[in-house]
Formats: sequence, structure tokens, C-alpha cells
Amino acid sequence: MSDTQHVSAARALRRLFPGEGPLRNWVDGGWSDRHGEELESIDPTTGRPLLTVTVADEGEVDRAAASASAASRAWWRGDGQDRGRILRAVADAIRSRGADLGLADTLDVGRPIRDTRTRDVERAARLFEFWAGVTDRIRGANIPVQPGFANVTQYEPYGVVGAIAPWNYPLTNAATKVAPALATGNGVVLKPAEESPVSALLLASVASDAGLPSGLLNVVNGPGETTGDHVVRHEGIEKIAFTGSTTVGRAIASAAGALLKSVSLELGGKSPTMVFADADIPRAASAVALSGFNNQGQTCTAGTRVYVEGPVLDEFLDALRAQVARLRVGDPLDPETHVGPLVSAAQHARVQDYLALGDRQSAQRVELAPIRAHPDTGYFVAPTVFVHLDPGNRIDREEIFGPVVSLHAFDDEEEALTAANDTAYGLSASVWTQSLPRAHRLSRDLRAGLVWVNAVHALHPGSPYGGYKQSGVGLEMGLEAIPQLMKVKSVWTATEPWASPWGPPE
Ligand code: NAD
Repeated sequence: MSDTQHVSAARALRRLFPGEGPLRNWVDGGWSDRHGEELESIDPTTGRPLLTVTVADEGEVDRAAASASAASRAWWRGDGQDRGRILRAVADAIRSRGADLGLADTLDVGRPIRDTRTRDVERAARLFEFWAGVTDRIRGANIPVQPGFANVTQYEPYGVVGAIAPWNYPLTNAATKVAPALATGNGVVLKPAEESPVSALLLASVASDAGLPSGLLNVVNGPGETTGDHVVRHEGIEKIAFTGSTTVGRAIASAAGALLKSVSLELGGKSPTMVFADADIPRAASAVALSGFNNQGQTCTAGTRVYVEGPVLDEFLDALRAQVARLRVGDPLDPETHVGPLVSAAQHARVQDYLALGDRQSAQRVELAPIRAHPDTGYFVAPTVFVHLDPGNRIDREEIFGPVVSLHAFDDEEEALTAANDTAYGLSASVWTQSLPRAHRLSRDLRAGLVWVNAVHALHPGSPYGGYKQSGVGLEMGLEAIPQLMKVKSVWTATEPWASPWGPPE
């Protein structure tokens, strides 16, 4: 693929949107006509500008919140089955527009097209399908209380959910937030990351074409510190659903806390993988390659700390080499490519700093040897493993968000568990062993929101997802997410005349 092919693909992407010039925000059921500052999205394969988008100022966020609020009232008063039918239609529309949605993310963030047009589109569609099945099943309870009263609970939407998303899987991150919020009767103001504004805008117009009522889903682009902050502080937005870094999550929680808003946070990770000598080593190595290097390592659940039982360390490293040798690092528009560029120059520089840090730590740096086919430009980093880093080093402690994995040997289960849990994060963990008792022991003792046994990165819209410790607060996905998006009202009705002069019986 050449620069020229990227330029023509970018033109094709631009033609999916009306007019000329910067892309508009999607507000109140259509393309906003407000002009303002602009934000430039860069194609990380070429390092050249891709598209510009209009930054949403405070007034635009205000309009988005007002339209989401009005639309949610009508949406919630309607029939749950109708909501489900519409969300199913959105799922179908995502599939039928999958080529466009996939192209948007590949050009915007460099995620390979073999993933964006297939897995990501299917995952986004399935999120909407799962939540479509929930809309007519949300119900309260009839609670037996003291004589003289009937008491029922009813679930009600917050009204407007402010969804703030990161850039690493733009379409699926957006769908993960938008589908459950809509299914629970809320309107949404979605703020995508600065690096990845395009597919969220496309999703909003695709959903509208599929019949989603006007105003329910709004997309406002802009920097986190301004547009994102307006979303967090807007008094008409009662619930903030944030996915992103732990640092920003902490700042948002504190701003939202002062305003007494409900917040759920899906944050960073530094996930361990434990490989025991009895494990299927080639499969474990293939899982580590997938987990550590898929999406260029820019995955919150990436298994970046790998603990291998001493006697099989060399065998494991050889197996990992063999796995990575099958991967093609290259232009993400090429359907053969497995690993594309990092999202931005800043992320590239950050990862290079960590690589230099690893070298200074006198660790063994193993630059794995994938098939290379990448252009001269772009923010590419080869999949890299550090072996035997000093204990407590920053590479093991900090989320790098690049294709960098550290490998350590351990002597016994206790040592491996202690090392795995020795982190501020707690998003996921993966255990490789043939021993069922050990698998159960470790699943119990690992301090992480997701544990995979002889597996990695298995997710389903029906299965809850959320982090422990600094990896987050609250859950996304699964029926467990419903209480995070709804309030519970307790309704009391007197069924008898009051006998007491003081009022109703207590
Ligand atoms: P980020 O925290 O820099 O930004 C995330 C979003 O927050 C962006 O839309 C950004 O514009 C916005 N933002 C930034 N400052 C803000 C502020 N003050 N107020 C309101 N909004 C603000 O994260 P990123 O670099 O886009 O994404 C990478 C991070 O996301 C990694 O840490 C990764 O682990 C995390 N992540 C977590 C999950 C999960 O499910 N746990 C999933 C994907 C990504």
C-alpha cells in the first residue's frame, strides 16, 4: 500500500460525510451546523492529516444534552419491545455498513482492516443485539411491606449518559457504551477521543438511518480538557460512563464527585499471564502474542507481564518467537497485516522511551522477528520482549500501551501469584495450566475483574466486564451493568385508611 492509496482511501472516507471541510458534530438527530475550532485527525500509517472535525464548544454540548434528555423521556415512555426492535435494526445496519465503519478506524488509528471490518464490526453489532434483548426485561419488584401499603420498585433511566471513550478500539468502545445506555432508556452524549473522531460520527448517522429516534444519540468531538470537561460538568448529564486512562479517570471521578454524579470507570491495566510447566506451551505462547501484540499492544487487557515457570522459560520464549514470526507488521489497509502502527507520534515516542528504559535496566531485550512489510513512514514498533527485568521496574509497573511484554521466571505457584498481584491495576489475568485445582485456586486469589484459564481475551456482551483496584469502578456489559445505568425508585401506595391520628403506620 502506498501513500497514494491512503490518500484515496481518506477521500473515500470523507465522501461518506456530507458537505466539504471539517466533519460536523452529530447533535439532535443530524449534522450540526455550528462552526468553531477544528481538530485534526492523523493517519498513523503515513503521519499525514486524515480529516478535520469541528470541536464542540460548551453551547454544542448543551444542545446535545438537551436533545438527549428530551428524546430519552419519549424513548422510555414507549414500549420496551419497540426499543429492542430499533436496537436490533441498528445492529443490522452496523453490519451492512461494516466496510465503511472498519475503514474509518483503520485510517484513524491504524488498527488493521482485517480486524476492524470483521471482529470489531461484529462485536459492535452483537453488543446492540444483546442489549436489544434486554429492553423489555427490565423490571422492578413487588416488596412485601407492613399492612396498609403496597410497595413496588421501578427502574428508571438516569436520563442522559455522558459517555467518554478512548481511541484504542473506537467503534467497539463506542458501542460498548452506547448500546446499554440506550437499552436502559437513556439518551447519550458520546465524546470520542481526539485521535479517533470518525467512526463514532458514522455510527450515529448509521443508527439514525436504522430508525433510532432523533436526539437520543449525540456525538460531540473535541479535546478532553474542554469538550470532555463540559460533558462531565453539564448539569443535565447525570451519569458519566468513562473509559480511558487511570489518570484521567481519577480527575473525572473527582470532578463528578464534587457534583455528586454517578460515575463508572473502565481504566488502565497491567495484566499478568501465568504459564505453568504443565501448560500447553505453544497455545500459551500464541495467547501471549495475541494479548501483547494485537492492536499493537494498545489494549487495556493486554497481558504485558508474563510469568513462566523456570524450567519451561526457554521453551516458552522459542514458542513465542515462532508465533510472532507468523505475524505481518505493516500497512493496516493491507488485509494481510496483523500489526499496524501505533496511534500517534506521541504514543510512538512514549513507547520508545520505555524501550530505552528497558535497555538501561540491563535486561535481555528480545526484538521478536515478525514479517515486515511496513512503509517508511508511520509509527511502527516491533513486538518486543524484555527478559529478567529488575524487580519493581517501571516497565512492569506502568501501562505502556505498545507491543512490549516482560517475561519473568518463577519457582512456585505462591511466588507467581504474589508477583501477578503486585500491581496497582486489576483488570484481567490469564492462567495456563492443566491442573484444575490450581486453576480454581488462582481464579479465586487473583485480584482482577476478569480471569481467563487457558484462554485470553474472551469477551461476550452478556458477561460482566470491569476492573479491580486502579483499573476501574463499576461494570460494563452483562445484566450486571443495568444498575449502573438506572436509578431505582421505591413507590408506596396506601391501601387502607390510616387508623392512627399521627399518620400512616411505620
Ligand atoms: P485518556 O484517558 O487519555 O482519554 C480517554 C478519553 O477521555 C478521551 O476521549 C479524552 O479526550 C477524554 N478526556 C481526557 N481528559 C479529560 C478530562 N479532563 N475530562 C473529560 N474527558 C477527558 O485515554 P486514551 O489515551 O484515549 O486511551 C488509552 C487508555 O484507555 C489506556 O489507559 C487504556 O487502558 C484505557 N482503556 C481502558 C479500557 C477498559 O475497558 N478498562 C478499554 C479501553 C481503553
